[in-house]
Amino acid sequence: MKYLSEYRDPKLVHAVLADIHKSVTRPWVIMEICGGQTHTILRHGLDQLLPPQIELVHGPGCPVCVTSLESIDKALAIASNTEVIFATYGDMLRVPGSERDLYSVRARGGDVRVVYSPLDAVRLAQENPQKQVVFFAIGFETTAPANCMSVLQARNLGLENYSILVSHVRVPPAMQAILSSPTNRVQAFLAAGHVCAVMGYWEYPPIAEKYRVPVVVTGFEPLDICVGILKAVRMLEAGSYKVENEYARVVTYAGNQHGQAIIKEVLMETDRNWRGIGMIPGSGWTLRPEYEKFDAEKRFRVESVRPSESPLCIAGQILQGLKKPNECQAFGKPCTPESPLGATMVSSEGACSAYYRYRKID
Ligand code: SF4
Repeated sequence: MKYLSEYRDPKLVHAVLADIHKSVTRPWVIMEICGGQTHTILRHGLDQLLPPQIELVHGPGCPVCVTSLESIDKALAIASNTEVIFATYGDMLRVPGSERDLYSVRARGGDVRVVYSPLDAVRLAQENPQKQVVFFAIGFETTAPANCMSVLQARNLGLENYSILVSHVRVPPAMQAILSSPTNRVQAFLAAGHVCAVMGYWEYPPIAEKYRVPVVVTGFEPLDICVGILKAVRMLEAGSYKVENEYARVVTYAGNQHGQAIIKEVLMETDRNWRGIGMIPGSGWTLRPEYEKFDAEKRFRVESVRPSESPLCIAGQILQGLKKPNECQAFGKPCTPESPLGATMVSSEGACSAYYRYRKID
């Protein structure tokens, strides 16, 4: 398949790996931002094929993993309302809140439905005028345009029974929070290709400049990852800190401007709590006042939830590149995909789930 099979070609991957081996002279720590990239690295054992000087650490780019416990608890409270159909992506069902998850709400009679698009949730609202339909609008810049479209569509249809529980997060403030931390180890980033497909990469040069870190916009196939690492290593070795685009078959500098305009129309920046990490200023989006009537938090008045995290879970340190999943004392026992203590073990993009799937030694 064009644009796919050639990016999985072992000969090409090994040729780039050989270039990486030739290029590296010193230890470097590189963070891949996206959980999809983490899974590619673990699935293909790419980290084990790199020179020992290169350490890959896993970033916070898994939307399910970083959705705050507070937001999960709000979702659980709203989904428990008998007047509500709560629509969500399937990954969110098993993410543990302070005391339970959406599966257990459903088991107790809550009307929790899995949808594949926010527009499916709008259709549910049309088909069920006697119910309030709430869509759990989580994710990074990638999912924001479609979530905003659902609000615009609900407005255009005159729906009074549709709202979204917004927990959107943005990548650039998270990169800056990691780089500003006194414990930071990251020296270069592989930026998330799908986020950049929407947003472009015009937000990254000031970050690269300010913190003197190379950033490579990178895709998700093994060859993408290896080329991204090669570009990062070459810049690190040369002492340069530019933004390069490895994923040019999908990403342009300006990105999807129509998508960005829709986001700007419906959402505005806000401070946001990231699960395990804490509050990052300006790192989220929330609904603009003009669209307040579609805000599930306001409609259901659940602002005062006080969450509590499992004391064993170190997902926050993992998502900042400070620890690896197998350094968690709960990894594999008691924390497993069947009985997760943290969101990074649940999500198909979570680092703990990737280690459990591809690296667990019984
Ligand atoms: S293994 Fe489980 S408890 Fe440990 S960091 Fe990962 S999700 Fe949290």
